[in-house]
Amino acid sequence: MRGVARGARRLKSRFGAGLEPFSLITLEYFEIEGRELVSIRRAEILKSFFNLATTPDVVAIMEYLVQLVIDFAPPQQPEEKLFRMVRACFAAAIAEPALISHITLYYELWMLKLSGFLPDFKTCGRCQHKLIPSAMPVYLNFEGILRCKGCKNESFQVMNGDLYKLIRWMPVKPPLEWSNMCEKLSEHARSDLIRINRSLITRALEKEPRGRTAHASGI
Ligand SMILES: [Zn+2]
Repeated sequence: MRGVARGARRLKSRFGAGLEPFSLITLEYFEIEGRELVSIRRAEILKSFFNLATTPDVVAIMEYLVQLVIDFAPPQQPEEKLFRMVRACFAAAIAEPALISHITLYYELWMLKLSGFLPDFKTCGRCQHKLIPSAMPVYLNFEGILRCKGCKNESFQVMNGDLYKLIRWMPVKPPLEWSNMCEKLSEHARSDLIRINRSLITRALEKEPRGRTAHASGI
């Protein structure tokens, strides 16, 4: 939703801290016919993630995460799964702020999955055979398509086995558990994942995501 909250900037605003960034709130609003912006009547804070924003780097990452929602989610449509994912990831980041860059990778993968832009990591993109993480190497091209050993050509590169397994775990692991697994990944494999996500997101949005640089530099 996009809306206006009259008087929100006043010192004694009736909205209190309800409209601070990164807050989980209940919102009361009304729509005015012909206007794109709703009029916000009341905002009550349920949980603030604001205290997570301890350093400018963390704020930049959080802004990037929120921007992804704005870019990916169609306006004015309830997205229950997306909402739960975002809430779980922010809660995980509060619990383990040191893991926020790994949580970001998990968040990006989920954002791609929920919007239908995550490639099928389970089957070869050519022969459709099931790819089994422990059985043989998996190959990836710059478009994010996976192939088995028999189907790869020179545009495909072998994917780090641990990274492949980690991506396969994403749909079934909660954010903190997955991020702890991600922590064990080699630096090299993690930077591969940053690159894969960025390229998939850029293809999905048909533009560079806003705030991407802050995340790319890492913390
Ligand atoms: Zn194949």
